[in-house]
Amino acid sequence: MLEIISHVIKISARRDRTEINAAMADTLLSLFNPQRLTIYRCYASKAKCIVFACAGLGPEGQFAHNAYLPDLKYCQPVENDPLLNRCRNESSAVLEVLEDGAHRIIFPVIGLDEISYLIDLTLADEFSSDQRVALMGLIEYFGNHIALLDYGEADTLTGLSSRKTFDKHLFELLGKAAADEMLANQNGNQHRRYGVAGPSNHWLAVCDIDHFKHVNDNFGHLIGDEVLIMLAQLMRTSFRFDDPLFRFGGEEFITLLQPTDQASAIATLERFRANVERQVFSRVGHVTISIGLSHLLPHDSPTDAIDRADEALYFAKRNGRNRVECYEKLVASKQLDAKGIAKGEIELF
Ligand code: GH3
Ligand code: MG
Ligand code: MG
Repeated sequence: MLEIISHVIKISARRDRTEINAAMADTLLSLFNPQRLTIYRCYASKAKCIVFACAGLGPEGQFAHNAYLPDLKYCQPVENDPLLNRCRNESSAVLEVLEDGAHRIIFPVIGLDEISYLIDLTLADEFSSDQRVALMGLIEYFGNHIALLDYGEADTLTGLSSRKTFDKHLFELLGKAAADEMLANQNGNQHRRYGVAGPSNHWLAVCDIDHFKHVNDNFGHLIGDEVLIMLAQLMRTSFRFDDPLFRFGGEEFITLLQPTDQASAIATLERFRANVERQVFSRVGHVTISIGLSHLLPHDSPTDAIDRADEALYFAKRNGRNRVECYEKLVASKQLDAKGIAKGEIELF
């Protein structure tokens, strides 16, 4: 009993998602001694659900991956694993006896209004009812803690991640970019081979609704808010599950695109821009957005990256709106002054 309480205290003391997942894995490993354990985070859209193995114990030992940057290596569609899929569909614990007699048991973790995690344990023996009650209590507690975290990270109007969460994501991303660059330097300057589409080459895009003041002036703030909610839904369907989306301010949104080359980043954002242009917003009709993007550099400060994307956004606004502009492309074509280039970029290339 005291041991359980001390674990609960350790989990509850953490606010960082990666640390909470790791503390939950520690707890389950030390209390139940499973042969295998995987804590999966679920990324669900209407069309599909991807699960990300973020912490646990695998054949190579204990692991904990950065929960803010889901690495595709550890992600899979939930259908790939029939028992995981069953647990998600039934929204209740499922059990399978494996060939060697071990028990594989998966519990769903119910978040704010959907399954946020799946916890997958393989135990050598059958569970005693006391163990089962303790485990279910712990999982429920973990779910409540995660729900609080999700609530704190979300923007209340749109449900996208909030400005505060953006700072945390960007901090994690820049940290990873700097670490990747160091590793590449150690391995014979490999990043030069990757060029602009290096392994840490994330993109930051700022999206701003065109003439949104007119929407508020003509239809009122409540209808304006509805446009923001609908735009957020369009964003969710326009980007990949691992491209985090943020409401940055009033009618400004930011997305951090996973590593890709310049042309693909622009194409993704162009698709989103076109989706918005096509959409009929109830009562308001058509709304357009302008987008500015720039690639993140390992030595960027958060404001460096936003400033560059903002410069491209202002260019889009000055040049007709309803368009996507890329900072690096504008500088290369001399349409923007290069003086804004961060020091890191000059050092890198
Ligand atoms: P531009 O094309 O240059 O971006 O023109 P704009 O009218 O969109 O100008 P700007 O981006 O400066 O205006 C932002 C407006 O967004 C101001 C405010 O009325 C509105 N706004 C900001 N936050 C909210 C919100 O939470 N709800 C609603 N309904 N409106 C908001
Ligand atoms: Mg604005
Ligand atoms: Mg605007």
